[in-house]
Amino acid sequence: MKYVSTRGQAASLDFEGVTLAGLASDGGLYVPEAWPQFSHDEIAAMVGLPYAELAARIMAPFVGDSLTPERLRELTTQAYGRFAHAAVTPLKQLDERQWVLELFHGPTLAFKDVALQMLGLLFEEFLGRREDHLTIVGATSGDTGSAAIDAVAGRAKVDIFMLHPEGRVSDVQRRQMTTVLAPNVYNIAIDGSFDDAQAMVKRMFNDAAMTGTFGIAAVNSINWARLMSQVVYYFAAALQLGAPHRKVAFSVPTGNFGDVFAGYVAARMGLPVERLIVATNINDILHRALSAGDYSASTVTPTAAPSMDIQVSSNFERLLFDACGRDAAALAAQMQQFDATKALQLTNAQREAIAGLFSSARCDAGQMAQAMRWAYEAAGEVLDPHTAIGLHAARTAQDLPADVPVVTLATAHPAKFVDAVERATGVRPPLPARVGDLFERQERCDHLPGTYEAVAAYVAERATPKSGRKDA
Ligand SMILES: *Cc1c(COP(=O)(O)O)cnc(C)c1O
Repeated sequence: MKYVSTRGQAASLDFEGVTLAGLASDGGLYVPEAWPQFSHDEIAAMVGLPYAELAARIMAPFVGDSLTPERLRELTTQAYGRFAHAAVTPLKQLDERQWVLELFHGPTLAFKDVALQMLGLLFEEFLGRREDHLTIVGATSGDTGSAAIDAVAGRAKVDIFMLHPEGRVSDVQRRQMTTVLAPNVYNIAIDGSFDDAQAMVKRMFNDAAMTGTFGIAAVNSINWARLMSQVVYYFAAALQLGAPHRKVAFSVPTGNFGDVFAGYVAARMGLPVERLIVATNINDILHRALSAGDYSASTVTPTAAPSMDIQVSSNFERLLFDACGRDAAALAAQMQQFDATKALQLTNAQREAIAGLFSSARCDAGQMAQAMRWAYEAAGEVLDPHTAIGLHAARTAQDLPADVPVVTLATAHPAKFVDAVERATGVRPPLPARVGDLFERQERCDHLPGTYEAVAAYVAERATPKSGRKDA
């Protein structure tokens, strides 16, 4: 399998290359050259497979020759063996129609673990074959940081520098990052928003002075291997609800458009998906883009669902690429305009291509709290704020056929956002035992001003060059 850049100018890479890369050198994102397909019969044969086995089947065409089938199965078994539920991503029913897919049974209590536990193992596997040292630079609105740090802490040949917006992540989220004291982990709190942090990371991928010396890799959902790993649970859920003989709709609390893009990939691979509902909070750039063609960033307003407090959704570029018939030159022009003006209009062709599968909804704080209360009163389920936003969108979706079940992706454990949950429901969900004495542990974090220069200098001083030699 070859991977190409959405902007058409960067060299194509194989799976190993794309896993170790960040942004493509032309500023684009890597996507498979063509979408692999599963037939109706192949999908039917997946019913009832254990999660790790299903994962190996779904990932195999993307991995290509980079891993043997046996090695891939060993890695999926190891990655998903760390989950606290034997089903890995259990599905729960709320009423006749509404379901939630619990993606938070990994070590750091958010769905990011599903992808990052796998990515950590892939990094180790591929680096073991090379001399190279990897410098992971990431920006987090909370959950990616802890999941990525858990996945690579203490591993050889990798350092991780994780930027988070100071004061904008929950106490649990911050502590899950800053209490990991492994010497290869650097936490940086910056003065600014998540979008500022993400922009710095993107700039570093395009900074020849940095990429010339350091092997800079991404753990944000611009990394293809992450999205690939997330495709699996769409299959897992749909197979339980009757696929390939029955269609299923998904409602996805969305920030960077990674999770819902994985649902799009599942549909392209042949999974019968009736609809993908993109749920946003009041930071609603994606809702405006999908409902009115207006993809224009405004300022970020902090909410109780901080992982969705995003205005620039990196992975949306991957969808726009497909939606313009993979015309890389046209897309590059469109994205350059967005980079310059923070606004772009979808073409009519793009809007039509997207409307066939996607709808969207915006959810404010009151609607979120109401969805949380409904789930608790109707089904005894305590949901986190992100999941509640997805559920609101699921329950208000228009024109879905009556026999289509709607699965809301439960992206975080409610204990991660305990104050917001308590305000809405009166319940204070306890932290699961697997996170241990989080509030007793020592924290380590550096604070930097919100400028690229400060962050680049910090990384350059501490990172190991890609040659693996500090004196290089
Ligand atoms: C990251 C995250 C999201 C948003 O996912 P994207 O892939 O960025 O769209 C939603 N909810 C939670 C809890 C998250 O951690």
